[in-house]
Amino acid sequence: MSLLQVEGLEASYGASQALFGVDLKVGAGEAVALMGRNGMGKTTTVRAICRMIPSRGVLRFDGQDLHNLPSHRAARLGIGLVPEGRRCFRDLTVAENLLAAARPGPWDRARVADLFPRLEERAGQVAASLSGGEQQMLAIGRALMTNPRLMILDEATEGLAPLVRAEIWAALGQVRGASGMALLVIDKSVKELAQVADRAVLLERGKTVWAGNMDALTPDITERFVGV
Ligand code: ATP
Repeated sequence: MSLLQVEGLEASYGASQALFGVDLKVGAGEAVALMGRNGMGKTTTVRAICRMIPSRGVLRFDGQDLHNLPSHRAARLGIGLVPEGRRCFRDLTVAENLLAAARPGPWDRARVADLFPRLEERAGQVAASLSGGEQQMLAIGRALMTNPRLMILDEATEGLAPLVRAEIWAALGQVRGASGMALLVIDKSVKELAQVADRAVLLERGKTVWAGNMDALTPDITERFVGV
């Protein structure tokens, strides 16, 4: 049984339908890339999974129907989200941000510090004073501190400098290797996704149009559906 099971998922913003049939599965401990051009429904799919917007279709996590669950309940079931735009509490320190997210499990402050030593160096600084890359590390650290069974990352390295991107992808590779945590990673870079993802699911106009192993994702498929 898949940890996350999404079938025929539909969702709308008011009268405007954005998802028309998303199919997506993530097994326990598996890493899946969710890809597609801008506006094709990736973030909307994540919002539906995290119960931030209503949706229709099959949506199950660990066998439980997620429909009708509010977002805090979805988080409690073990879904951790690193949203677009590096959200953290800007006026709290790095340490306070991490502790505010903490739930019991293998990921604690020491383990996050091993993964991102820079965060530990800046433990006493307020989040607002961090660089963009450091804020993204903090957002990932916060999600890890919740000890999710599935961590979802929405464009985790968008707009960051190449060196910082490389650092974050390497860290995600470590998360993948070191724990049984499942990952759902949204990004456009096949090269970087290939470091962590087993499989890819491609969306076009709110529908799944391709799903398969990462190594079956040929350049013509990515060019057609992702535009890179
Ligand atoms: P991007 O890579 O640009 O973030 P995406 O694949 O994540 O794209 P979504 O953000 O899910 O795409 O958008 C899917 C569709 O839903 C688009 O047509 C978009 O304009 C629309 N949409 C997204 N958010 C809203 C919103 N808050 N209100 C109304 N329409 C929205």
